[in-house]
Parts: sequence; C-alpha cells; structure tokens
Amino acid sequence: MLQLHDLTFKPFLSAQEIENTIEKVAEKINEDLAAKQPVFLGVLNGAYLFTAELTKRFQGNCEVEFTKLISYEGTKTTGKIQNLIGVENLKGKTVIVVEDIVDTGNTISEIVKILEKEAVANYKIATLFFKPEAYQKAHKIDYIGLEIPNKFIVGFGLDYNGLGRNLPEIYQLKEN
Ligand code: 5GP
Ligand code: MG
Ligand code: MG
Repeated sequence: MLQLHDLTFKPFLSAQEIENTIEKVAEKINEDLAAKQPVFLGVLNGAYLFTAELTKRFQGNCEVEFTKLISYEGTKTTGKIQNLIGVENLKGKTVIVVEDIVDTGNTISEIVKILEKEAVANYKIATLFFKPEAYQKAHKIDYIGLEIPNKFIVGFGLDYNGLGRNLPEIYQLKEN
C-alpha cells in the first residue's frame, strides 16, 4: 500500500509492465514515423518520464519539446485548462504529442487547437494511459499504451497533489 497525503493507493502495474507497454508504443511510432524527423512534444509535468523513454527508443532524428497545461486539482479535473508553457517553431513539422494519460480529453482538445494555430504539417497523439469511460471528445488517439478503468492512478510521472511522480510503478486509488 502507498500513502500520499490523505489517500491510500494499491499496486496496479509493475515497472516491467510499464516498460513492455512503452516498447510496444515505441515500435509502432518507429514503424510510422522514423523517417519523418518529428518533434516529440511532451505535456508537462505528467509525461516527462514517458517522453524520455519514448524518445530514447526512437530510431531516427527527432526534436524534443515540452508544453505545460494544467487541468487537474487533486483527483478531479477542473475542466478549465491553463497553458503555462507555450509552443514555438512547430510550423510545417510533424508533431507527436506525448501525454501521460488521456481522461476527459479536455487537455488534448486544447493542444489540438494550439497545433492547428501553429500550422504544423501533421500531428499524432500518443498516450501511455487512456480512460475510455471518461473520454468525451472525438479526436483520434493514435498511439495508446494501455486502456485502464476510470479510477485515479499515480506513479511514473502521474501525481496526486504533487506527490508520486517519481514512483517507477503505477498505483490505483484504493476505495475502502
Ligand atoms: P483530461 O484533460 O484528458 O481530462 O486530463 C488530462 C490530464 O489530467 C492528464 O494529463 C493528467 O495530468 C491528469 N489526469 C487524468 N487522469 C488522471 C489520473 O488518473 N491520475 C493522475 N495522477 N492524473 C490524471
Ligand atoms: Mg498529462
Ligand atoms: Mg496532475
């Protein structure tokens, strides 16, 4: 069991299971985009580890950039998205948006608007985790590591009020 602030979490995925998941995503991205010299655009803070692991496995030339948006407070999405670190120099490029998790899809929706404004050549969306029951948008998610139930998770980049990002495994909120 894991205690973060006032909440208790139970083990959900091992470091090995996460690595296997990342390997599969990396393989597909390599098949599709190795020759396209893409920009990996990691969405901070949650995707910092996934972005590192994906880009290490990329078999071609690429750029690595980050953007920062916030939608969550505690374990609930606020629905309001703030853009804290913007993007630049993406015009005409192939962009791979790298997310830790797609939940309602609000964040992805916001990023898609930004990329369209930046006139990128094309973009793909990669996420380590996807909650199909929570997703409310129509955007296609091109690369999905794992589909998971609609329960709050932490670890491997994902936090609960700032804690838990450094954990090499994934934990799920324990509901008494
Ligand atoms: P969305 O905008 O799709 O609702 O949520 C996207 C962001 O909310 C994710 O990038 C992540 O930062 C946060 N989020 C969504 N679900 C979870 C979860 O289960 N655990 C944690 N720690 N963050 C989450
Ligand atoms: Mg995120
Ligand atoms: Mg968070």
